[in-house]
Amino acid sequence: MTDVDVVVVGAGLSGLTAARNLQQRGLSVRVFEATGRVGGRVKSAQVAGAVVDLGGTFVGPGQERIIALADEVGVGRYPTHEAGDNLILWRKDLKRYRGLIPPIGAPNLLDLARVRASLERLSRKIPVGRPWDAPHAADLDAQTLGSWLAAKHASRGTHDLMAVVCKTSWGCEPSEISLLYVLHYVAQAGGLDPLLETRGGAVEQHFVEGSHEVAVRVADALGAGTVRLGSPVLRIDWAENEVTVHTDDGPTTARRVIVAVPPALRRRIRFVPDLPAAHRRLSQRWSPGILSKIYAVYDAPFWRASGLSGMSISDEGPIFITFDASPRDASRGVILGFIGGDYAREWDPVDDAERRIRALSSLADLFGKRALDPLGYVDQRWGEEDWLGGGPTAAPGPGTSASMHVQLTEPVGPIHWAGTETATRWAGHMDGAVAAGERAAREVAIAEAVR
Ligand SMILES: Cc1cc2nc3c(=O)[nH]c(=O)nc-3n(C[C@H](O)[C@H](O)[C@H](O)COP(=O)(O)OP(=O)(O)OC[C@H]3O[C@@H](n4cnc5c(N)ncnc54)[C@H](O)[C@@H]3O)c2cc1C
Repeated sequence: MTDVDVVVVGAGLSGLTAARNLQQRGLSVRVFEATGRVGGRVKSAQVAGAVVDLGGTFVGPGQERIIALADEVGVGRYPTHEAGDNLILWRKDLKRYRGLIPPIGAPNLLDLARVRASLERLSRKIPVGRPWDAPHAADLDAQTLGSWLAAKHASRGTHDLMAVVCKTSWGCEPSEISLLYVLHYVAQAGGLDPLLETRGGAVEQHFVEGSHEVAVRVADALGAGTVRLGSPVLRIDWAENEVTVHTDDGPTTARRVIVAVPPALRRRIRFVPDLPAAHRRLSQRWSPGILSKIYAVYDAPFWRASGLSGMSISDEGPIFITFDASPRDASRGVILGFIGGDYAREWDPVDDAERRIRALSSLADLFGKRALDPLGYVDQRWGEEDWLGGGPTAAPGPGTSASMHVQLTEPVGPIHWAGTETATRWAGHMDGAVAAGERAAREVAIAEAVR
């Protein structure tokens, strides 16, 4: 007899989905969450009358798992505002443009198209879910995106635009991330356009009540006492068909455990006996990037009157990309700005007041002086969150993808793994988190059935 059938570690979207799925299969579950709230990398706030998503925000076509879950718990979606011209502040020059490709001069555009096509061609050769089986996997993994760009003689402009993609997707610079990992990430999302586009891509919509509300409603539906907040799991003792999960409140026994935390946080749990060496290496090497967000809330989306979409990119920093995240009824104007990679490393340690001035002047450089005076402002530095890593997802360096990917999901005895990084489609996204939770629950149910 055990206290419950299954313990889930982590009440992010992945752990909560796993728990929901297990309950639906008739298994008893307890979820331990280290922090004082559910949601993990999804978190929302009310700022001057607007709901803003401080972590995971956008969803798009093909992200069926998170969309189905949000529909089930009654959280609505609306399109990301995209009408109007985008802006690019590049080499001190501010220009308007439409679509995904900014006006960076014909030679740069040709070079960007060449490099992009080459990256997409390579990515199509990567078997989704099995990057280690790609042709020349070890060679691709030995390179970073940055060293590959250099080997391709990418222009400075191409490199800098790829750096924008890198900072937004993984919170890191091209020189830091395994090329094989990038190629697999692009492959599993179905290409660069699905990853980046507003219309038809991963940035197409966001949630009316905020993404955090999805997690809150899933957690509530699990029933009182199922989710234990403020309960970091510090140690897991395991044998063939039993685990004992230790928190400050004492031990809980179960037949299986699903660990639904980012790979780097697996190493904060002491496993007894120890995990195999390959699993330990994964948690040492699959660190997250670093990506912070600011929101400035105005009485109206004033940039729309000037024919602007609110979407922009800039090479000046600290804000390097913005989106219009205003509510559907435009009762407030909301600009979302990202600070990531080297900008985050430079600006995250800066005190609140100075950082706010610098962030708002970044917005003013793009949208005019009115941006300096918002009704409300909020700043989320993910690198400072103790239990959440620092970026949207893992940003593993060279030599870590081919050799360690398999350990993301490979169970160890009664220990199963979830979390967005373990997904084979839309990894790094909320959709991947939900899909991974469902997959881990299925795995546990099968293991229980054959027991
Ligand atoms: C700035 C930013 C922007 C993003 N933008 C988007 C976006 O637009 N669209 C999108 O789809 N995705 C986006 N994402 C990514 C998305 O938020 C994540 O992929 C998803 O929320 C991850 O969910 P998860 O459950 O896998 O992990 P997490 O949310 O990290 O959940 C893991 C949970 O485990 C807990 N935990 C860790 N260790 C322990 C322990 N030892 N014991 C108990 N609990 C523990 C943590 O506190 C956390 O609550 C973004 C993320 C960030 C940070």
